[in-house]
Amino acid sequence: MTSSGINPLQIAIAGGSIGGLTAGILLHELGHDVHIYERSTNALEGRGAGIVVLPMTERYFTERGSALGEGQAGAADVALTLTNWSYVDESGAIVDEAATYNRFTSWNTLYRALLEVLPGDRYHLSHYVTGCVPTAEGVAVQFEHGESRDCDLLVAADGIASTVRSIVSPHTTTDYAGYVAWRGTVLESDLEPDTAAVFEDAMVYQVLNHAHILAYAIPGPGDSIIPGERALNFVWYRNAPGPEFEELMVDRNGVHRPATMPPGLAQDRFVAELRQDAERLLAPQLRELVLACEEPFIQAIFDMAADQFVHGRVALIGDAATALRPHVAAGTAKACADGWALRDHLGMGGDLDASLAEWERQQLELAQTVAGKSRRMGERAQFESTMVPGDPEWRFGLFGPGN
Ligand SMILES: Cc1cc2nc3c(=O)[nH]c(=O)nc-3n(C[C@H](O)[C@H](O)[C@H](O)COP(=O)(O)OP(=O)(O)OC[C@H]3O[C@@H](n4cnc5c(N)ncnc54)[C@H](O)[C@@H]3O)c2cc1C
Repeated sequence: MTSSGINPLQIAIAGGSIGGLTAGILLHELGHDVHIYERSTNALEGRGAGIVVLPMTERYFTERGSALGEGQAGAADVALTLTNWSYVDESGAIVDEAATYNRFTSWNTLYRALLEVLPGDRYHLSHYVTGCVPTAEGVAVQFEHGESRDCDLLVAADGIASTVRSIVSPHTTTDYAGYVAWRGTVLESDLEPDTAAVFEDAMVYQVLNHAHILAYAIPGPGDSIIPGERALNFVWYRNAPGPEFEELMVDRNGVHRPATMPPGLAQDRFVAELRQDAERLLAPQLRELVLACEEPFIQAIFDMAADQFVHGRVALIGDAATALRPHVAAGTAKACADGWALRDHLGMGGDLDASLAEWERQQLELAQTVAGKSRRMGERAQFESTMVPGDPEWRFGLFGPGN
């Protein structure tokens, strides 16, 4: 029996990013024997970009009475808060402004904060999960290097291109949405003071014809959230129909990148096109930001939604279960929410299969609702061009606006 009065389970988690770490920490705290297997050989490095922090994203830290990252890198709080949401037009004039409360951090900061919580002997790098086979007691997890491990439950947190999902749910498709996000960061100190001032306490959007862009502050070097020392992060959604998309995702060395073009690897001609469009279309503040970014990178937008999250003793969570379009800014929060719900259901100590079935019912409903909403937002902004500055529907949230 564990301290929480339940029988300890042997739990393997495939994937050690935000979803896998959150589930791993919570299930370990319940007293289960948890091991996270991450394919990367080194601690993960973020794509150098920001993420929106919803209450579920930082729930672990708030419930333990600390702000996200307290005590880390000497910072008291490494997520920052902005209290305005502005829309600008091409001239840079504010066309809509609302008081909001949004928190932001960088992916690296969140990852590091979670990794520090989990005992090191529970996190295994260089463990590529290549297979899973049902056994009488649960599931056997197979690794690339030939080993195999029996466990009661395999939690698949191995992202949108999940190996585990391809085994248990081979019919699930991943469909390109028809547009990409060009992203990048610039230090506040590298911008003209007047431009930096616009972003001091505001997230700034510009609605374009069949496109939109947003920008917001995130922690800067050393996780600093002090204005002037922060970074600014932009996300510019741009349509790229099929053949154009295929060319866009070939890097400067001729390598095809199916989902993400890392910083510094986009072909010069595409970066030049981005900059020309910035000159032509963007508000002066956003234009300066995009032009100041030396190495913009690309994240392609996909729809992927498994119709079942539990397959015997395998549970799909986070992006492996459902990848959300980013417009509700809830991908990370959903990955965390899947882990919290797993903790709640497994913490009741009843029959494991019944607990998993109840967990699946709840999380599937949540995922379908938020995936439908974010998909609709993307279609409106990129293809119907009916996005309207100030529309309260665009407030971020997993369960509803703001939460
Ligand atoms: C390195 C990295 C940087 C990111 N940076 C950003 C960012 O800057 N901004 C943003 O908004 N989002 C970012 N994301 C995405 C964001 O973390 C996720 O969309 C969201 O949080 C859901 O997380 P997830 O844990 O479900 O999946 P993911 O974050 O995609 O993590 C999946 C993990 O599984 C591992 N993995 C995959 N296959 C296997 C396998 N077969 N065996 C073992 N391990 C496997 C991957 O290496 C990865 O660590 C990043 C993700 C990663 C992995």
